[in-house]
Amino acid sequence: MRRLLIAGNWKMNKTVPEALSLVRELKKLVSDVNDRDILVCPPFTALYPVGKELKGSNILLGAQNMFYEEKGAFTGEISPIMLKDVGASYVILGHSERRHIFGETDDLINKKVISAAKHGLTPILCVGELLEERERGETEVVVERQVREGLKGLSRESEFVIAYEPVWAIGTGKTATPEQAQEVHKFIRGLLSEIFDSEKAKRVRILYGGSVKPENAKSLLEMSDIDGALVGGASLKAESFSKIVKFD
Ligand code: PGA
Repeated sequence: MRRLLIAGNWKMNKTVPEALSLVRELKKLVSDVNDRDILVCPPFTALYPVGKELKGSNILLGAQNMFYEEKGAFTGEISPIMLKDVGASYVILGHSERRHIFGETDDLINKKVISAAKHGLTPILCVGELLEERERGETEVVVERQVREGLKGLSRESEFVIAYEPVWAIGTGKTATPEQAQEVHKFIRGLLSEIFDSEKAKRVRILYGGSVKPENAKSLLEMSDIDGALVGGASLKAESFSKIVKFD
């Protein structure tokens, strides 16, 4: 009942010409895929040209962050209205790099989640524990706090996606084992049942992220509560990203 979602998080990579050449290649490689959602999240500067290039294709457009206000004196920020304007339908929020490098708090991330949903963007709320937290046995406590705080006040009708990304697995080449990931995904689905209800929990897609590559995609994506992937490094090349998209 849940459609797979394979999302590429390009992070701070790709100039406009580089971005266009990547999506032109990707479009060809995945043109035959119609049973799952494919999403690319370029940096802000490439959103508009990439969105234009993707019109009429089977690839969706998302952003990597946004501010929660609609407009005004917020130097350096981008609003949900601006993202919609350039054709984005998804937005990654609360990525661990936003939390740990830029100091984003659960409260700020929650405001962004609510604002994205209000403006018709599907938020992808990222959660995940640090290595020290896992070693102290705090994975569930941390993930529970991030999920509950991140979704606070969100209506049951709102569409959203959760991405579980253990921080120790991001960009490190260390992937959670499929079993480790499944355990946390199942835990998150249980939380969604408590916050909303089991019907809603069954419909929400929970992505795994952290060193997903063509070689490990299948074993992760086959797990029952893993509904897709949020791919960083391996989304920067059309060939490797398309292999993850077509993992089976
Ligand atoms: P990675 O990044 O695939 O390079 O580990 C994933 C992410 O941070 O979304």
